[in-house]
Amino acid sequence: ARGEARHRLAFYDDALGQWQRHQSRLERELRDAISRREFRLYLQPQFAAGGRLHGAEALLRWMHPERGLLGPGDFIAEAEHCRLIQPIGDWVLEETLALLAGPLRDTDLMLAVNVSVQQLRDPDFPARVEALLQSHALPPHRLVLEVVESLLVTPGVMPRLASLHALGLSIALDDFGTGYSSLRYLQELEVDEIKLDKVFLDPLKLRQDAPLARSIIALARALGLRLVAEGVETADQADFLRRQGVTLMQGYYLARPEPKDIFLRRLDA
Ligand code: C2E
Ligand code: CA
Ligand code: CA
Ligand code: CA
Repeated sequence: ARGEARHRLAFYDDALGQWQRHQSRLERELRDAISRREFRLYLQPQFAAGGRLHGAEALLRWMHPERGLLGPGDFIAEAEHCRLIQPIGDWVLEETLALLAGPLRDTDLMLAVNVSVQQLRDPDFPARVEALLQSHALPPHRLVLEVVESLLVTPGVMPRLASLHALGLSIALDDFGTGYSSLRYLQELEVDEIKLDKVFLDPLKLRQDAPLARSIIALARALGLRLVAEGVETADQADFLRRQGVTLMQGYYLARPEPKDIFLRRLDA
């Protein structure tokens, strides 16, 4: 039995070794990805009533030299783990602001960026965002920072969000309703927007008239917050949302995330 245990341990060791080799390789590749210009900014359009373009959410992609186009699920966790999310997040912010200051300057389109907890842990983050806004001579109100609720419990994050909000940009609570203590934070934090998570709109819930979705929509209305429904995949969902008076929507039913250049073609249309 002892031999078998040792064998199992060796097997485990080997699997662990393989995992570690994979991770350190990923880390090395991530480290070079910015200078090699391998990141791509994708934009998923958000629409207002009547199909008018409201803006977009910036979603990061990585054009990996061997593995092809990767989504955040393939590398964001590792980037957070090895603290590379900070330079990567700066890159996303920089690209987004360049769009707002460049091709989107004479529009009223909003662009939203996802911000990770590591970025908000950095005491210098608000000052960097301010400097970026100033260097692009941008009015801040067209930038939305999306944060997930779970991140608000991290010490220091709430006051940092308050400083960011004081710059005049918008704060959105992402995946709203899927984390904890959302109501408490809604009161303490100056939030401008709620993103209604797609879990509240799944077909089963919709058939039961989606009481939670309706409650969150009512909550947003009572608090005077903008509400963006995300993950809208079907006409039924869009109809339901319209009946509830929700005008801002994002999801595959309307448009998938698309490369920056494709998104910009929407301006000519
Ligand atoms: P998220 O912020 O909740 O972004 C929405 C995700 O849902 C995106 O996945 C989007 O492609 C996907 N989606 C959009 N419409 C639909 C739909 O109708 N149905 C379904 N099933 N999915 C839809 P994506 O692009 O793979 O991003 C995954 C997550 O990675 C994001 O979730 C966000 O948390 C994170 N992420 C993306 N870009 C960045 C970034 O620049 N920085 C950081 N820190 N995180 C990012
Ligand atoms: Ca988001
Ligand atoms: Ca979300
Ligand atoms: Ca999510």
